[in-house]
Amino acid sequence: MQANPFTARAAFCPGCGCEVAGSLLACPSCRKLMHGERLKSLAETGQAAEDSGVPATALAAWRDALALLPPESRQYALIAERIARLGREIDQKAAPEQPVDDQAQHQAHSGWSAGRVSGVAGGLALLLWKFKFVGVLLLTKAKFLLLGLTKASTFLSMFASVGIYWHVFGGWFALGLVLSIYVHEMGHVASLIHYGVRADAPMFVPGLGAFVRLRQTIADPRQDAWIGLAGPIWGLAAALACLGLFAITGMPIFAAVARFGALINLFNLLPFWQLDGGRAFHGLTRSHRWLATAAVATAWAVTEEGMLVLLMAVGAWRSAFDQSSSQPDRGILATYAILVAALSAILCLPVPLP
Ligand SMILES: [Zn+2]
Ligand SMILES: [Zn+2]
Repeated sequence: MQANPFTARAAFCPGCGCEVAGSLLACPSCRKLMHGERLKSLAETGQAAEDSGVPATALAAWRDALALLPPESRQYALIAERIARLGREIDQKAAPEQPVDDQAQHQAHSGWSAGRVSGVAGGLALLLWKFKFVGVLLLTKAKFLLLGLTKASTFLSMFASVGIYWHVFGGWFALGLVLSIYVHEMGHVASLIHYGVRADAPMFVPGLGAFVRLRQTIADPRQDAWIGLAGPIWGLAAALACLGLFAITGMPIFAAVARFGALINLFNLLPFWQLDGGRAFHGLTRSHRWLATAAVATAWAVTEEGMLVLLMAVGAWRSAFDQSSSQPDRGILATYAILVAALSAILCLPVPLP
């Protein structure tokens, strides 16, 4: 009974009874919404979830509703706004003390350079908080990491990945690499759950890495950016953990996994298409995109890491020509810059060959 907006089968307008192509969301003659009933029940679900304090569930319902509304409609704009607001509310509740308002206030009283410093400090604090979040999750909610493993498809595709890497690099290295990719993907999964976005369990593509397929459009550029950055944030944490193990055990394999993991995460920060960097750029204004590209350029000047040239070129292209966010967010910019710097630094560490 519920029409799927993606089927082309014709339906009849509930308002005027005209025959309407199944792909249309509103009747072309009387403008009545084609999915009014479904939208009403989604709105009820969303409102009820908001009222009972489960914003992630509310977000999922509002995103479903958004997919059934014509993008030029007033309802679409209202719900998109609501999605953005709920995302901020979730983050404000999750962060221990909310630095954003303080920061904004501070900014109003101080000059440009102080503002910039507080922006970077705020970003650092946010990143540290995210790391704390990672630590807490790894320690107390290890079942989160098992979530993907319980799905047979994830497990099988991961196994196939190990097979290919095994051939190229040798078994333990391959295992370490797949595990660090797994941690990266679980960063996305945790963030998707955080913002109530419906998605499938991660799939491993032999030789290429892994991805999480979304079953909803994220709709808000800021949430999109944080969901994208969550992968490299967790990936960086995994690389640092490997470096820690290397420092403790002196086993070169850990340094090798850290280094290669850093390279994969850096590649994912390429501001292109569905890659994590591409998502991060959704949340950046034009000037912030240029600053992110400048951060990449600085990292390249220091490390001469070839991958950074690619990031720089694509970053400059997206800064110059692509449509950018209108809402400045220094947290996203600072996190992107810190990730590029930290991952590039790991790439400079020599791996002692056995
Ligand atoms: Zn009609
Ligand atoms: Zn990723």
